[in-house]
Amino acid sequence: PPTTTTTHIALVSVPAFSHQVSILEFAKRLLHLHTDTFHVTCIIPTLSSSSSKHSFFFDSLPRNIHCIFLPSVNFQDLNNNGASVEIQTQLSASRAMSSVRETLVSLSRTTAITALIADAMAPEALELGKELNILSYIYFPCSTMVLSICFHSRNLDHEVSCEYKDHPGLIPLPGCISISGRDLPDSMQDRGSLAYKLFLQRCQRYLDAHDGILVNSFMELEEETTKAISEHEHGNGNEHGNGAGNGNGGDYPPVYLVGPITQSGSRSRCECLLWLDKQQPDSVLYVSFGSGGTLSQEQINELALGLELSKHKFLWVNLRAPNDRASATYFSDGGLVDDDDDPLQFLPKGFLERTKEQGLVMCGWAPQVEVLGHRSIGAFLSHCGWNSVLESVVHGVPMIAWPLFAEQRSNAALVSEGLKVALRAKMKNPRGKSNGVVVKEEIVELIKGVMEEGLEGEEIRRKVKELKKLANCAMMEDGSSTRTIEKLVNKWKRLGKSL
Ligand code: UDP
Repeated sequence: PPTTTTTHIALVSVPAFSHQVSILEFAKRLLHLHTDTFHVTCIIPTLSSSSSKHSFFFDSLPRNIHCIFLPSVNFQDLNNNGASVEIQTQLSASRAMSSVRETLVSLSRTTAITALIADAMAPEALELGKELNILSYIYFPCSTMVLSICFHSRNLDHEVSCEYKDHPGLIPLPGCISISGRDLPDSMQDRGSLAYKLFLQRCQRYLDAHDGILVNSFMELEEETTKAISEHEHGNGNEHGNGAGNGNGGDYPPVYLVGPITQSGSRSRCECLLWLDKQQPDSVLYVSFGSGGTLSQEQINELALGLELSKHKFLWVNLRAPNDRASATYFSDGGLVDDDDDPLQFLPKGFLERTKEQGLVMCGWAPQVEVLGHRSIGAFLSHCGWNSVLESVVHGVPMIAWPLFAEQRSNAALVSEGLKVALRAKMKNPRGKSNGVVVKEEIVELIKGVMEEGLEGEEIRRKVKELKKLANCAMMEDGSSTRTIEKLVNKWKRLGKSL
């Protein structure tokens, strides 16, 4: 339990592992900078399908971070109806809100909570902060560009009359690259849908996050976007996010760039790391579609054959049984499989035998941060989840951007067209299917493009090494994100003392 000299921060997360990791790594960062100052309680809604395979992460948290797992909320109705990842995450957080409230109220009876920080998918928690009269923030585990899309969503809704995907030309976003309507987040793709309605509600709540929004990004990565946002920040004394705002009465809350917050390594020595030890520097392509991305059977075939034809070494992890819905296993234990549903059986016939010297395929969870930090890794074929993007940048690994769902296409546009640290996979629609596939010939071209000699690949590799340096600088003692966190910490410490 916290002592009287510690400042107590409450976090509210959502039932998605990558969100939980991000907000808890932020808490670890706070404690790393100010070991004895903070006590953190993280309130975590759960689902009946929540996986125990991630317990290693929670078990290794420092002792002044305390997690409270709430009783699981029922969301089978949403799952059965094929609701999107965003709907499921947001509504399951909504349904847990009364338990979150009870927990916060009971906590505040024994300790003074200085600030509440809620995950971007649980913005209703801001109301609880108001009720308890504590500072309340959103933790935004995505890019500043996606935050900018959220801030602009209301204007876009007024200005664009058709579906965004049918909008001719690119959609301009101040301080960002212009993007095609198709690259806006999934929730915006059907304007008559519940997903869109919930998305607009969520974005409105971000505008109401008066104390601020903490973004897992860094100034040097998204400077123009941050400046464009800052121009609209409302005045909040000298406590402005990154100090770039003019505080002259805009309607955006202060935005604090606190990243890159990435998972600290587990120092495990799993089979794949031993295999990487035996490979040449920069020679292996790492392939992962995140904690829940799945491919269709046709796409598994094309990817396998593309990897084989490229003749480059590869490490393909989290292989899952095929599903035409890319996010089908996001909330279930996608990495753990029944024996009779062994994902390896869905690989093309003879593939494993033919590539046994060329690559390693794993069905389970990989120590991604260690993998990306391994000297043998030359590139990352990624679904562009924001954590994966940041981990790749932090380790200076060029990417092949292969987005699947949620806001991953916006991230793919950012890393390929904006930051120019990735080549983007193009979908073909050979059989008129709505999802389309990336064909093996395209996969070979992409792999050669990022891994081999040639102007394009060299430029991408140079750019990502440059960003790696900037990412590391941002987290140094006098780095931009550390200074931003210090501003917040000073405010919280001052308040903590006076409580
Ligand atoms: N991850 C991992 N091992 C795996 C797959 C994923 O450690 O086999 C981690 C990865 O390092 C990242 C997170 O899980 O921190 C995935 O988050 P991301 O935002 O990239 O994608 P999501 O899982 O939300 O789709």
